[in-house]
Amino acid sequence: MNPSTAPAETETGTEAPHTSRLFIGGEWREPSSTDTIEVINSVTEEVMATVPAGSPVDVDFAVEAARAALPEWKALSVQERAGFCTLVGHGLQDRAEEIAGLVSQELGTPVTEGMLIQAALPAIDFTSMEFLIEEMPWEQTIGNSKVLREPLGVVGAITPWNYPIHQIAAKVAPAITAGNTVVLKPSETTPLAAYLLMEVIESVGLPGGVVNMVPGTGPVVGEAIASHPGIEMVSFTGSTRAGIRVSELAAASVKPVTVELGGKSANVILDDADYEAAVVNGVRKCFINGGQTCSALTRMLVPREALPVVEAVAAAALAEIKTGDPADPETQIGPMSSAVQRDRVRGYIEKGIEEGAKLVAGGPETPEGLETGFFVQPTVFSEVTPEMTIAREEIFGPVLSILPYDSEEEAIALANDSDYGLAGGVWSSDQERAVAVAGRIETGQVEVNGAAFNPLAPFGGRKLSGHGRELGPYGIDDFLTLKSIQL
Ligand code: NAD
Repeated sequence: MNPSTAPAETETGTEAPHTSRLFIGGEWREPSSTDTIEVINSVTEEVMATVPAGSPVDVDFAVEAARAALPEWKALSVQERAGFCTLVGHGLQDRAEEIAGLVSQELGTPVTEGMLIQAALPAIDFTSMEFLIEEMPWEQTIGNSKVLREPLGVVGAITPWNYPIHQIAAKVAPAITAGNTVVLKPSETTPLAAYLLMEVIESVGLPGGVVNMVPGTGPVVGEAIASHPGIEMVSFTGSTRAGIRVSELAAASVKPVTVELGGKSANVILDDADYEAAVVNGVRKCFINGGQTCSALTRMLVPREALPVVEAVAAAALAEIKTGDPADPETQIGPMSSAVQRDRVRGYIEKGIEEGAKLVAGGPETPEGLETGFFVQPTVFSEVTPEMTIAREEIFGPVLSILPYDSEEEAIALANDSDYGLAGGVWSSDQERAVAVAGRIETGQVEVNGAAFNPLAPFGGRKLSGHGRELGPYGIDDFLTLKSIQL
């Protein structure tokens, strides 16, 4: 630790060192301006830390450091580079409880869930590199050509708050394994988790400048990254609105951009499915991370005649879910990440009622006894029609919309009747039938009968959900460029 770094005290007394600085060139550097961003504890609504609001000048320094580190870094073997990622993954594993605790305050993810989705998952993102590189066709022969996969150069990474370390890991691990160096801007809502990752990166001795971090706002630091002439590629995860802006800015210098954006994914429950299993699973999965998951299956499509049973099962499943303090190991839904997010989710619940959807459980009122903290009631609507706002827009909170359909064809049409195309689900007692329906859903991934998330399968979207793929070997490919050498 740099002895001159002033440690910031988080609310629980956990030390979060370095948070008044930027991580550039392997050092904790002073920001160029005194502007700061307050990090709000989503449970207490109090300021838990402040971090610098970086500036375009800071981005210039970070790009300079990343460019300087590039020649030596790409000269290492891919195995050596992946070896560093393994060390980072182990470093994250060692700090798993701390990560779950920090994210529970900064974002509101309950600790039990956080150990898996906020701590274990990013560790896998890093440790998987060592194995994935063996599957990559680094050098191919096509006719008289030798085709090489090469790093692009300096990669700009801009990430959201809902999986604060995983979203960074899904970019940084493959980008550096591929031989690039990185300038990262984490979300201004959850920068402390990103600081923790930088500490791990520093502790494993990753060469300075390979990963650099400038916290700050999207319009200032994010836009400086997207338009920077010294950055060769931008990998963005966040809202469709910001993804479009980043793409526009990057176009001026013809930078490749990958954008992982929002979703409004459908869970198609076919008429031969086990309704109880499908609905219980669908409700739980929709509410993972308080529903703040881009791939959440937020539209449940069910045969019209099954509506009464589906509603009863959904209401019962919801009654089992404990909303409350994310530090309690029994809690399944914590607060929303911010006051803005809470108000937005409540607004959608009010809109659902206003537009005539049937409220099965939950509602816009503050959950009883949870007046402090950004809590909302997990909510299920039924008899939702395709034109309703809650059927079309991404809510990004614990709100499930149940839509009835009259035929399999209509179910598929409804699933595809969305501006988004990120994820999906199909339930049927006949796997072949389910896979056939999955094949007709216009999204980047579909799970059959509640199958588990696979952190090595390509993850990404179509339509307004974006383009590009993260995770697994395809996630590395997005950070490479091809060169043909004719012989
Ligand atoms: P956001 O778009 O507000 O912010 C995401 C990041 O972009 C932040 O770092 C933000 O500072 C930055 N940003 C904002 N405006 C910018 C601009 N003009 N130029 C450059 N950068 C800018 O999104 P959010 O609220 O942090 O995250 C929620 C959204 O992210 C949801 O829509 C969700 O679906 C999406 N998301 C998608 C995926 C995926 O893989 N498809 C994963 C997680 C979240």
